[in-house]
Amino acid sequence: LKAETMTDPLTGLMNRRGLMSLHGERPFGPFMAVVMFDLDHFKRTNDVYGHPVGDQVLCRFAAVIRKYARTGVDAFRLGGEEFAIVMSRMTEERAYDLASKIGVAFGTEVVATPHGPLRSTVSGGIGFGGADGCSLDEVLAEADAALYAAKRAGRNCVISRKRMGKAEPIEPALRSA
Ligand code: GH3
Ligand code: MG
Ligand code: MG
Repeated sequence: LKAETMTDPLTGLMNRRGLMSLHGERPFGPFMAVVMFDLDHFKRTNDVYGHPVGDQVLCRFAAVIRKYARTGVDAFRLGGEEFAIVMSRMTEERAYDLASKIGVAFGTEVVATPHGPLRSTVSGGIGFGGADGCSLDEVLAEADAALYAAKRAGRNCVISRKRMGKAEPIEPALRSA
């Protein structure tokens, strides 16, 4: 029953409660990071393709991040079209690379729908722990600010503090509506 309250029924990923339960108490040290992902223009996906296709897209993104989850990499659906992964034992560079890989894997997949082919993209922001130990809330706040910067930079990209302000699009040629 407890496991059920921590699981998102649509995607099968752990939900926000699961995130709190797993990572809410321990401090985030160096080599720990959280990536927040938010699907791009997802309202439009629902409006144009319908809610069931929207749900399908959410499940697809869940499948992509699940593929990259392993020991030390936990995946969550925070709610709506927002997801997170928590990474341990990861340098900033590797955290960024993993987040970018997820963005590319998702953003290059084309799905057949009753309304024609659909390609969706995702934006990501990364927050890092520190030597003094940061709270989950602090790391999430940094990730959220970076995610906001990724949206402002044009979406379909991942931003972390080192790259804040100089967005590197995942693949500009593949950018979609
Ligand atoms: P942005 O690129 O700035 O993130 O724009 P957006 O359209 O993705 O963001 P917005 O917050 O405007 O829209 C989010 C949409 O996600 C609106 C809501 O209807 C939809 N949504 C939330 N939960 C679900 C769900 O479980 N299933 C489906 N199909 N849609 C959902
Ligand atoms: Mg959102
Ligand atoms: Mg969105």
